Amino acid sequence: MKTPAPVDNLEHLTKCPLCSKKYHFSKALILDEEDDRTTFHLTCESCQTSTLVFVSMGQFGIVSLGMVTDLDRNEVKQLFKNEAISADQVLEVHDFMKKFECSAKDLI
Ligand SMILES: [Zn+2]
Repeated sequence: MKTPAPVDNLEHLTKCPLCSKKYHFSKALILDEEDDRTTFHLTCESCQTSTLVFVSMGQFGIVSLGMVTDLDRNEVKQLFKNEAISADQVLEVHDFMKKFECSAKDLI
């Protein structure tokens, strides 16, 4: 079952972390999409800062994590396509997100 991206609950991720300009989600690049987990890449139109965003739906609701990256959308696409991001790294992100869950819960 597919649910639409819960953008409404992710206010804190809709702005550039550096210049606070609002992102254009129409230009977001979805890298990985599963039933309860989505990874996408956003680039700020104003300062060109790129952010990787992980959104996961768990028992505590939506957990989101934004991470500034110096990879542009083509590089990151290539990374995901080649599965250069190993299962270990994905697990690391999940562990991080578990710890992040409590604070994220307060934010939403
Ligand atoms: Zn910016």
